[in-house]
Amino acid sequence: MTGCDVVRGLNNHGFTEQQPEKADKAMTKVPCNGCTLCCRKDAIRLLPEDDASQYQTEPHQSGDGSLMLAHRPDGSCIYLTKEGCGIHGRAPKMCRQFDCRDLASKLTFTQARKLADKKMLPIAIWRKGKDLIKVIENE
Ligand code: SF4
Repeated sequence: MTGCDVVRGLNNHGFTEQQPEKADKAMTKVPCNGCTLCCRKDAIRLLPEDDASQYQTEPHQSGDGSLMLAHRPDGSCIYLTKEGCGIHGRAPKMCRQFDCRDLASKLTFTQARKLADKKMLPIAIWRKGKDLIKVIENE
């Protein structure tokens, strides 16, 4: 399991859902502004809705028999370019759905830290989500 899996499975992993933050109501398109943290050192699992033949893949690190997007040796997604996602518009469902603000609003720092210690979530992604929530709250 990785950061993206965490977001999808929050309620299945025993985490207490936090009081929705004010920003929840304002969540729209993720304002990534060039941030590609979630395209690095994460495992983008292909879901049944994704056509695996359309992507370069490798076995998912969980060893559960599923596939994930292939990585470069530095851990970044094979499709990450200097300009951002190289397959924007046809990226797998998990990429299209991921919102670091959602993750940050549902996990306390302690929960995020525990996941980071288990190498299940880069803590920088949780921090980025918190920062983006603050931006919305201050608008
Ligand atoms: S497919 Fe695109 S959005 Fe998904 S991890 Fe790779 S570069 Fe990022």
